[in-house]
Amino acid sequence: MVTIARNKNLELISLCEKGYPFEVCGYLLGNGVRGDDGSVIKYDITEIFPVKNINQVNPKRMFEINPLDFIKAEDIAKEKGLCLLGVYHSHPDEDSYASSTDNAYCQVDLCALIYSVKNQKFNEVKAFIPKFDKLKNDTLFFEQTQYQIL
Ligand SMILES: [Zn+2]
Repeated sequence: MVTIARNKNLELISLCEKGYPFEVCGYLLGNGVRGDDGSVIKYDITEIFPVKNINQVNPKRMFEINPLDFIKAEDIAKEKGLCLLGVYHSHPDEDSYASSTDNAYCQVDLCALIYSVKNQKFNEVKAFIPKFDKLKNDTLFFEQTQYQIL
């Protein structure tokens, strides 16, 4: 499950609409609750850290983050006593789902929020958390999870 403060969700919607028709991206910070198996089962997002989409090939359909921004996000999380919990990005004129590219970049303990924006207007948002695919040599993929706006 992923939870987020209402004002942060509104901020993300606004950022994704403003960035249209390009994919918008950034980091999600907050606190994670771990389950019995050690993996994060609940992601409580309290802060966001927007970064630039540096993809040059097709930034309307893809996003890419400068590795230096990852380090910055980790520093900011540490300063605030939070954890880096995940990545958000927008899908301009597409539904909210984990694409094959999204799944290829799926990492342990990092959730994803995907905001669908159609004709510059927010359409829907879904949350995804990493899961091991037992049928594919335990490769990671994004499974949709409950998204609660507080
Ligand atoms: Zn995507």
